[in-house]
Amino acid sequence: MAEKITRSDAEWRQRLDAETYRVTRQAGTERPFSHPGFPKGPGHYVCACCGARLFDGDQKFESFCGWPSFSRAGGAIAEHEDRSHGMIRTEVTCEGCDAHLGHVFPDGPPPTGLRYCINGVALRFVPEAG
Ligand SMILES: [Zn+2]
Repeated sequence: MAEKITRSDAEWRQRLDAETYRVTRQAGTERPFSHPGFPKGPGHYVCACCGARLFDGDQKFESFCGWPSFSRAGGAIAEHEDRSHGMIRTEVTCEGCDAHLGHVFPDGPPPTGLRYCINGVALRFVPEAG
């Protein structure tokens, strides 16, 4: 279980760049295709806010939806029903700090059938050592 991180809004605003703050702390969405060279390969992805491990590199797949996509959660992910914007979706947040990450949709590849559609600015890639 990840340790819970709580910071004031002002603290997050200070620690994060403007776009990361907008997406992760205000449930924003980055523009699609804003990460043409999004890192992938051996390694894992951590929360841009608190560093909790969220996804493994081998769970990333190319969905062509414009956002980094993963077939399963690899770590401290929480899921909530999201009824904003007139839709019923499942919001995905970081369990460690409640950062908004993106949404999960039931149209991913087997065997999970899930597509975690995640804002790239919410993630940092940690390459496998060695
Ligand atoms: Zn976090």
